[in-house]
Amino acid sequence: MASRRLRCLAIGYLGLMMVMGGAARADSDDMTSGRMWQQLLADASKLHLPTKFLEQIPPDYIRFEFEDLHTYAAEYHPGERRLVLNRALSFNAAGGTLKPLTKLTHKELDVLYHELFHAYMDYLASVQDRRNPADMLLLSFARQQQGCRYAEVKITPVVQRKGETETRYLTESESWEALNETWAVFIGWAIWTQLEVQQKSGGSMFRQAGAVEQWMRRFEEAVQNGELRGYYVPEDPDERRVAQKRFLAKESQISGGEAAALMGQALGFSEKFFETLKARPRLSSFFRREADCEGAGGS
Ligand SMILES: [Zn+2]
Repeated sequence: MASRRLRCLAIGYLGLMMVMGGAARADSDDMTSGRMWQQLLADASKLHLPTKFLEQIPPDYIRFEFEDLHTYAAEYHPGERRLVLNRALSFNAAGGTLKPLTKLTHKELDVLYHELFHAYMDYLASVQDRRNPADMLLLSFARQQQGCRYAEVKITPVVQRKGETETRYLTESESWEALNETWAVFIGWAIWTQLEVQQKSGGSMFRQAGAVEQWMRRFEEAVQNGELRGYYVPEDPDERRVAQKRFLAKESQISGGEAAALMGQALGFSEKFFETLKARPRLSSFFRREADCEGAGGS
């Protein structure tokens, strides 16, 4: 399925991209992918960022590449396991190996986690026949959501006019892409928000009551503003001539059930955190809407 590449837009990031050509290759470029992966996990822990889904990806699964990307913030090529990042995210901008996570901006970490999540879903799909069904809960949940929430979606034909929506019936690969982008947008958002609210010297956000409160408040706002929504590239050439990408409308943003599944199964947020979040009055209808998808118990 979904062999087309995921060309990812991280909104707000494109304007910050720099073209950094001509830099000499650093001596440390030959770091093996296994070592690079260990480094990435260690850096993520140092920043108190979630590593649950990252730890399930084999160390040599992803091939990192760096290019001067102009149109998209990053790309993931499912099947080929190629993760193409902007050269600015590489060590010394030399295009050899990933910069230490501690040197990345919050927005860059948002993009990185977004892409790593695509790799994770790709990995789950690649091993689905060989693994214990218990390890595959997120993937089977995704297939179910693809059918019941992404086969028919609302889009905003004019990106700037969020109130104007149209219905689209998506093909199998369009709906898989729309789901994957929606989920990756949420993962990136969760990481970015954690970094924004977490006091640098105070350890993990989860031990900082004020930071947790801020994260939850921002989540409420994001839900209310319909920020947690994905996009897809239309297959129909005629529609693609009109728009390279179609953005889902607020009605088709992530659901409470999907967010819950991702918080628990991908990010590893605690049950207590989720229960506190779900109990917030402004989120009660969001989490209740889970019932939209008959029998979809995600977490
Ligand atoms: Zn993406």
